[in-house]
Amino acid sequence: MAARKADIVVIGGGPAGYTAAIFAAKNGAGVLIADKAKRPLMKLRISGKGRCNLTNNCTDGEFFDNIFRGARFLRSAESRFGPQDIMEFMEGLGVPLKTERGRRVFPVSDRADDVAQALIDEAQRCGVTVIREEIKRIETADGRVTAVATPSGRIGCRAAVLATGGRSYPATGSTGDGYRMAEELGHTVSATYPALVSLTCAEDWCSEAEGLSLRNVRLTCRKKKKVLFSEQGEMLFTSEGISGPLVLTLSSVIAGEDPAELETWIDLKPSLDSQTLDKRLLRDMQEMSNRAFKNSLGELLPKSLIPVIVRLSGIDPDRKVNGVTAAERNRLLELLKHLPLTITGTGGWNEAIVTAGGISTKEVDPRTMGSKLVRGLYLAGEILDADGATGGYNLTIAFSTGHAAGIAAAEYLKEEDPGTEKSGDGKEKTMHAIAIDGPAGAGKSTVAKAAAKELGFIYVDTGALYRAIGLSALRNGVDINDREGVSRLLTSTEVDLRYVEGEQRVFLNGEDVSGEIRTEEVSMAASAVSAQPEVRAFLLDLQRDLARKNNVVMDGRDIGTVVLPDAKCKIFLTASPEVRAMRRYKELLEKGQDADYEAVLEDLKTRDYNDTHREIAPLKLADDGVEVDTSGLDLEGSIRAVIDTAKERLGI
Ligand code: C5P
Repeated sequence: MAARKADIVVIGGGPAGYTAAIFAAKNGAGVLIADKAKRPLMKLRISGKGRCNLTNNCTDGEFFDNIFRGARFLRSAESRFGPQDIMEFMEGLGVPLKTERGRRVFPVSDRADDVAQALIDEAQRCGVTVIREEIKRIETADGRVTAVATPSGRIGCRAAVLATGGRSYPATGSTGDGYRMAEELGHTVSATYPALVSLTCAEDWCSEAEGLSLRNVRLTCRKKKKVLFSEQGEMLFTSEGISGPLVLTLSSVIAGEDPAELETWIDLKPSLDSQTLDKRLLRDMQEMSNRAFKNSLGELLPKSLIPVIVRLSGIDPDRKVNGVTAAERNRLLELLKHLPLTITGTGGWNEAIVTAGGISTKEVDPRTMGSKLVRGLYLAGEILDADGATGGYNLTIAFSTGHAAGIAAAEYLKEEDPGTEKSGDGKEKTMHAIAIDGPAGAGKSTVAKAAAKELGFIYVDTGALYRAIGLSALRNGVDINDREGVSRLLTSTEVDLRYVEGEQRVFLNGEDVSGEIRTEEVSMAASAVSAQPEVRAFLLDLQRDLARKNNVVMDGRDIGTVVLPDAKCKIFLTASPEVRAMRRYKELLEKGQDADYEAVLEDLKTRDYNDTHREIAPLKLADDGVEVDTSGLDLEGSIRAVIDTAKERLGI
């Protein structure tokens, strides 16, 4: 077995990457997420000012009204995993949600970290491994993905999901590497622009009004004769220009436009037409005829804008209002309805919430997010040329496209290698799998071996794999509880199962260690390392591979729940701790080993506790599993119970 391998490598640990990984794993794939950032999901954590506006509680129609680029492309993915599904999914992960103004959806806790943690936990439960490594390149052969390259080597894989995000917030690790990797594989990347971002303006007076927020104004932007944007709402002034909800939307609409061709203005009084506003000005002026002009605008304008408007109007600020001419009043009216702004640029990538532009959606299948150029390559999230308004729309795009990509990538693996074997007549034959899980000493191996023999299946003892890794740690002086140390050790470890005269033998770096792994010390080491996600992921493909190619009776702790979730027959074999300890104790005595019943019972209880309480792939009865308690059964009885259940479940 190659030291590093996964069915699917997800490049980028953001919301799209995590969603893809989770759904691919749920569909039976062995998934590894690679992200170079110190912490995964960084951008999600700071989104919505740290509150995470994860979606928008809207209908499909409303959703697409808020998409600037890629609406047609997104239709299929959104219909299968849209806002309502995302909400259900997150709540199902234990994150209660609430809907605020503008239908924006947040976690009730107002903590984006809760959303991130829920995704991380779910990925871990599904057996996804996460490594902190930078992927440099995606390797292909004959137009198919075969591996990804890291600075320290390769990771073999059959599919890759490219979900590296866009260029926004580069400090979170989003530097746009993915575009280059896609380009190297022949994809077209359209120019990218900061979007949902503040805009800079030539007008110096913006800084005078810095911090001023205007409600209920209309912002309009025109390119030659064509109105690109005209909406009413809120905006604010910054030291260099404008920002706020209206401006963010405008920035997305005009992304990629040459600012010199744009004409932009604010209507400060959108609810009054010019005639009505003029009447109002006249009335105000009559009422305040003796005041200085600069003191007459308090009712009409916010304080910090008054000096600006006074200056722009060219009217002497100290002139009495009754001295203002009709032409001057007209100029004032014009400013109130049409306050011009000259956009010069944007606040840049550090401020942009999202990226406009990216991988051309013409080269991506909208149903699967699969590349039309490279088989086994999937694209998801901000890297795609699709973006929407603020309000949870862009995270929705990430979740929807991640979901579609994850499921399709897992399906692709099945198409390529459908867990079947060709029989003599060339027809494909489905393999049978019997998953037997249960605590140590329940008799799994004896029962599984006997069942395999009777049915003509191969017996796979997965505990031996964990034991081999435990042994490797002990031999190399690596602390069995040091996750990083063990993880490092895996890069130079090869574990393999071979069948010699029908007997399973386990090999560690080419050496048969089948005997050496059967000590109490190795049992405890196996129990410790098996709680580490990297170890579980490392062994996952090997186990699935065996089941793809053979009829198997496989025993372990998570066979029915994680390794072979599609197995038709899942048995949970158990017995009371005392009965199990007594069996093990007798076994040890028979082998001539020194044994103490109490110590065996203690060790067994510790292992039970570890196995059932670990976060990843804990030992438990699968939802569709059958529990067989062997406390009152002899060996013959246990074997019969398992074989009968298996025959009935498999219909053989
Ligand atoms: O089955 P056995 O006792 O040989 O397994 C050794 C240890 O490996 C167990 O205590 C358990 O922690 C771990 N294991 C596991 N998942 C499996 C098989 C074994 O976590 N599928």
